[in-house]
Amino acid sequence: MTRALDILNHTFGYDAFRPPQDEIIDTLIKGGDALVLMPTGGGKSLCYQIPALARPGCGVVISPLIALMQDQVSAMQELGVRASFLNSTLDLASVQSVEQALLDNELDLLYIAPERLVQGRTLQLLSQAQIALFAIDEAHCVSQWGHDFRADYLQLSLLHQEFPQVPRIALTATADERTRAEIIERLQLEEAQQFIAGFDRPNIRYRITLKQNARQQLLRFLKQEHPSDAGIVYCLSRRKTEEIASWLCQQGFTALPYHAGLPTEVRAEHQARFLREEGIIVVATIAFGMGIDKPDVRFVAHLDLPKTVEAYYQETGRAGRDGETANAWMVYGLQDVIKLRQMMANSQGNEAFKRVEQHRLNAMLGLCEITSCRRQTLLGYFGDELADPCGNCDTCLEPVATWDGTEAARMALSAAYRTGQRFGVNHLIDVLRGSETDKVIQCDHHRLPTFGVGKSLDKNQWSSVFRQLVARGYLRVDVEGYGALQLESHCRALLRDEETLHLRRDTLKKVVKQQTKTALPEDIDVALWEALRACRRELADEQGVPPYVIFNNNTLQEMCYQIPQSLSEFGSLSGVGERKLDKYGADFLRVINQHLSS
Ligand code: ADP
Ligand code: ZN
Repeated sequence: MTRALDILNHTFGYDAFRPPQDEIIDTLIKGGDALVLMPTGGGKSLCYQIPALARPGCGVVISPLIALMQDQVSAMQELGVRASFLNSTLDLASVQSVEQALLDNELDLLYIAPERLVQGRTLQLLSQAQIALFAIDEAHCVSQWGHDFRADYLQLSLLHQEFPQVPRIALTATADERTRAEIIERLQLEEAQQFIAGFDRPNIRYRITLKQNARQQLLRFLKQEHPSDAGIVYCLSRRKTEEIASWLCQQGFTALPYHAGLPTEVRAEHQARFLREEGIIVVATIAFGMGIDKPDVRFVAHLDLPKTVEAYYQETGRAGRDGETANAWMVYGLQDVIKLRQMMANSQGNEAFKRVEQHRLNAMLGLCEITSCRRQTLLGYFGDELADPCGNCDTCLEPVATWDGTEAARMALSAAYRTGQRFGVNHLIDVLRGSETDKVIQCDHHRLPTFGVGKSLDKNQWSSVFRQLVARGYLRVDVEGYGALQLESHCRALLRDEETLHLRRDTLKKVVKQQTKTALPEDIDVALWEALRACRRELADEQGVPPYVIFNNNTLQEMCYQIPQSLSEFGSLSGVGERKLDKYGADFLRVINQHLSS
């Protein structure tokens, strides 16, 4: 293990392992297999990078994220690690030179796309080279039930068959028990040691707010909390991503749309700008997903409700990979529920499939309406337990008031029932509030016993009642008609007075304590910080790499606090290994000295 620690200190510039990194690395160095489940940002990469360096030969990393390979390789090269990649973006001459380097034992790490790995030519090549280990990244892609399934991953079991003596490590951040079992089976990892870290992402603050004027709410959120940060805004439709992006640009932000309908070049360009430049906002459909491995995404905002908790967790999980504070922010309302329920009912697929989908949507709605800690619920959904409320979600920071909505719920159900279960929420609210609209008169609904019984609640309050009734499955949305609300059998107990119902009190102006802007510690010397960032940007541009590849924000903050004045002091900062000390130490020291003397 001293060798591993040595590499951690000298090459990566870090002091200590984050358990269980040390155990995983030890297992691999000794030649064993490992299955690693760790949340995003947990530090999975070191688990194969260090054994690859410690063992003789080259570590082969299989990853579906072709768009990222260049950056991953650049980041390794910055550390002085001899890394390369093989994928479809390379021309023949480059491929040949990478292959030769591998055969000459001149590589520490080689990233390969799965479809390329399973080709005869590649297998032939690997059989002639000395291989330190195989790392199978994003291992959940082997699962046919998951949303990221890749057929090529199924063939990866051949690694075990063709190279039985080479240790293998499979890594993922998104495996529930079933997926985990599938990974073990399909990759033949029965012998592997399992390392299952919790799912929690404590640096992400979860907030779900009632949707009122989504654009203005988003604008306020961005202006107050993320005026110049990189982030992702998720929307349901392609058109909306474009509209929101151009509107954000009018508001002074740099926002780019991203969806599957855009030409490939445009998508590639927008993704590249997001990765390379600072402070870019991408407004996207779910098409913007895998491979968004940018560590310093400070917020993920949802303007529409995701269909499942899995999707919500994965999308919000793209924030704060670097471990610094980040926001997961969402607005949601009755229309979202209606829209999603209709979309789902009209979707392709058999009844069993639709039932599963409805079930998953219900879990998502449950998360929205919950009045206790969001993180506890989220983690519980994945079978992870959090003993105490987290203190870093909206319901923890600003406890939600509830009220006894039993009576109101009965009135609402009765209004739906007595109007024949053929009307949408707006009309039902008119009936309850006793509004004599044309439609009410035409339908003779002003003669119903329910007419006007609900004057004590205003329109918003009724809308809140209906939303919660739909979310909790007392009412369903008719999918053929125009969002007519119909009673579910579930509401019998409530109507018979056998059940009481506590509802969320939706507050209109909810002010959750803000995160500090740009997540910078308050005591930091902002002028020095900006000067260091400018230096980093310049170096990054020179080399054509994203800024964080030079140094990440943590290391930059360390510079502000420690104010190193010599190369040896600089070398002791976390994140400064020997290679980066040589390459960049003098540049950053100059910036620091200039700052001190100004
Ligand atoms: P993952 O692949 O699990 O999402 P990464 O491997 O990208 O996470 O690591 C996330 C961040 O944590 C990176 O910036 C990495 O350099 C840093 N990191 C990982 N392990 C350590 C450690 N032992 N000490 C300090 N920083 C670490
Ligand atoms: Zn909480």
